[in-house]
Amino acid sequence: MPFTVSDLAREIAQRLRAAGQRVYLVGGAVRDQALGRTPTDFDLATDALPTRVVQVLSNGWNGPRPVVEDEAFGRVLVGDVDVLTLRREAEYHDRRRPSRVIFTKSIRADLDRRDFTINAMAVNLADGALIDPHGGMRDLKWGLLRSVGSAERRLGEDALRVLRAVRLRAELGFSYHPHLASALASPSAAECLRTLSEERVRDELSRTLLSVGVLQGLEDLRRFGLVSTILPECLPMVGCLQRNPMHRWDVWGHTLRVTQAISPELRLRWAALLHDVGKPATCAVGADGVTHFYGHERLGEEMERHILRRLRYPDALVRQVAALVRHHMFHYGPETRIGSARRLVLALGQDGVRDLLELRRADRQASAWGFGVGPEGERLLAHLAAIGDERFTLPDLQVDGYDVMRELGLSAGPMVGETLHAMHQLVLDGQLPNRREDLVNWLRRRMANAPEAPAEPADHSQPPQNSRR
Ligand code: ATP
Ligand code: MG
Repeated sequence: MPFTVSDLAREIAQRLRAAGQRVYLVGGAVRDQALGRTPTDFDLATDALPTRVVQVLSNGWNGPRPVVEDEAFGRVLVGDVDVLTLRREAEYHDRRRPSRVIFTKSIRADLDRRDFTINAMAVNLADGALIDPHGGMRDLKWGLLRSVGSAERRLGEDALRVLRAVRLRAELGFSYHPHLASALASPSAAECLRTLSEERVRDELSRTLLSVGVLQGLEDLRRFGLVSTILPECLPMVGCLQRNPMHRWDVWGHTLRVTQAISPELRLRWAALLHDVGKPATCAVGADGVTHFYGHERLGEEMERHILRRLRYPDALVRQVAALVRHHMFHYGPETRIGSARRLVLALGQDGVRDLLELRRADRQASAWGFGVGPEGERLLAHLAAIGDERFTLPDLQVDGYDVMRELGLSAGPMVGETLHAMHQLVLDGQLPNRREDLVNWLRRRMANAPEAPAEPADHSQPPQNSRR
């Protein structure tokens, strides 16, 4: 079968070959092309040392400047192409990284140290020949994920391979070879995950969450006992029963289905995985025999912050997911005023509210409620359309603290802020137009204690909440 490479990868390979070096296409690009998929990136392996790669790509080279990422590790980055020096990997001391890398001229030795047979193939870019010493093509055809050599030993060398196995299966829909499955299920696999840095765990978890087979991937993490090591907060969801006619599954089973149903965006997948993480700790059975989880969205938000911060996700993502978990129970009845939509937009932003609706859609699909965003979601959508891109934060009010002080004869103090807040709430609910004239009149009526002044609203500062589930 013909393998292709990107223009840049081809030029790099031609240069290196003209200089007498061997160059191979390796890893995911070979695997993905053999599967008829478009590769995400092109990794090259060469017998040239990093300094040699830089030297060859200097005089007369018009492409991106080669950057030696890690000389001892044999990695040169040229644009988006990784050029790696062939290596055999030496002893692993801490199950994280080989203690040192030994360079080699042998592609065979380089393939032997790779993780799975389907990842241990190379294409010689001189003649296009496939080098497949471990039966990678056969396993691709059979849809089998198999370790190169002894599964137990290979997983023990580098714990990341445990998570890579789960992720690759979730991406490709393959089966584990029985030896790999039993190595994954052995307690030592879960144990050795503790040696991994949170960042490496995070990157593999992200990829598992984004894969087409996310349900299978998460379920594998559970059945191999890996959840207790990398996401211990999620474990109580397993077996947490929901005695409620609206739910068919335990919280874990429901969560997996929401995660599978939601669009593959990292913030949405995390929101789906964690939206009910507060349920086990808030579970109570009511007099009606139905289970309730009052306040689970608030507890869930706290747990979410803790989990995603530990995994060193960027603050922006932690916040976006927190807002979704916090508000996923939003109630939007026929009586709900447009102010609730405005408050949701203030709390989450327009895009955040769209995300919230996507979470609601997936949540419904994974329960017994049916498809679409539901009547509540439809009402919220209608209000969103009416709001358009209008702005309505407190500083957008057409009066400010000076107006309040002047009209009410106040000096600076908490009353000023409270008055602005009350006006803001009335404006959000559409009970008071955000026009300077109307706002000043409202202040004057209030000053005169006129009876026609609208009553102060109850505390609407929070978007609509409901914990009926
Ligand atoms: P993708 O195309 O999705 O990036 P990939 O298989 O290329 O998948 P990379 O992380 O880019 O994944 O790794 C490139 C190659 O390096 C893999 O195909 C595999 O041969 C090898 N490899 C990566 N990580 C390990 C590991 N922890 N142990 C052994 N070999 C590994
Ligand atoms: Mg790759």
